[in-house]
This record gives sequence, structure tokens and C-alpha cells, in this order.
Amino acid sequence: MKKPPVRTASRSHELDFIGDHPAIDLVNTVRMVDGELTDTLQTDGDVVVWLGLASVPVSPALASWPEGSLLDATRRLRAETLKMIEAKKAGKRPPLQGLNAFLEAAVSHGRVESRTGTTVEFRRVYHARTPEEYLAPIAEAAADLLANGDFDLVRHCASERCVLRFYDRTKAHCRRYCTAAGCGNRAKVTAYRERKRSGK
Ligand SMILES: [Zn+2]
Repeated sequence: MKKPPVRTASRSHELDFIGDHPAIDLVNTVRMVDGELTDTLQTDGDVVVWLGLASVPVSPALASWPEGSLLDATRRLRAETLKMIEAKKAGKRPPLQGLNAFLEAAVSHGRVESRTGTTVEFRRVYHARTPEEYLAPIAEAAADLLANGDFDLVRHCASERCVLRFYDRTKAHCRRYCTAAGCGNRAKVTAYRERKRSGK
């Protein structure tokens, strides 16, 4: 892949979670930007922001890791996830070794916390002492997708120029585009122009 220009905090978050599944959203962090295939994660900070938006709390150990190690681990997890998704879509046995290495680092425990009144919430707390541990919720999401996902619903945006994928959670399973306002609208405009040109 061509090395894209460095994009930091100014990266756009508009398309970050259109995949409707955390593992697909991670894969979607490589996308077309101004007509070029671009890795939108360029720094550890980009990853922290993305994970935060994905509801993964910041690791307290973050400052002690060598610079770039979080980005490196994230890119490895993303590459493994992409390989598995592509294998499943192609009807092939997906490679699991890389994901299992991340899952082995998924150290967590359950925790109950009081909410309003008598309400108690049960949640999972991840230790997040290393980049791999920090990424554990996303690795587990990838494992869940692989084991329990319906891959007929894991699809590419219908636009030829777009590389984004999504998990189609619409009732009728008729989702075609990454976003209605983006690729969906462009497709509509193109179809309209073609109809006009052919005089229909
Ligand atoms: Zn698209």
C-alpha cells in the first residue's frame, strides 16, 4: 500500500462506525480518502481515539509503552481480522493463529456496579496492561463475528470505488451502501445522469 500522508487528530470520524460491528469497523479504518486507499490510523493517538469511540476505556498503562507499539498491534489485529473475513466470504477455512494470539492476551474479569436505585450493572473489565490486552475487546468481537456472525450479511459497499464493509442489520437485509449520504447518494446521482443521457 502506498504510504499515506500522516493524519493525526484531524482525521474524520464520519465513517468510523458505519460497519455496524467493531471488528468490521476496525477493518474499515483503511478506506478511500480523496480517491486514495489510506490507512486512517497513523499514530498511537489515532488508535486511542478510535478505541474510545468504540467504548474501549483508555489503558492506564498507555504512557509506558514504546511509541508506535499500540499502532503496530492494532494494524496486526486489523490484518488478521481482514484475512479471516475474506476467507469466510470466499468459503475458505479462516486462519486463526493470529487472532488466537490476541485472544490469549484477553485478560478480563467481571464486575458488578450500582446504578440508579436498585439497578446493578454487570460488565467486563479488561486489564489492558499491554497493547494486545488493550485491544482485547476488539479481538473478542472479531472472534464472535467469526464464530457467530452471518457472513451473508457481511458485505462490501456496492460502490466500486469504495472498500468499506458492513454488517447488514436492516430488517429486510437490503443495505447496499456504506452511507446513504455518501456512496448511496453518488450512485443515485450517477443513475439519474445516465437516465437523462439515454433520454429515459
Ligand atoms: Zn461506500
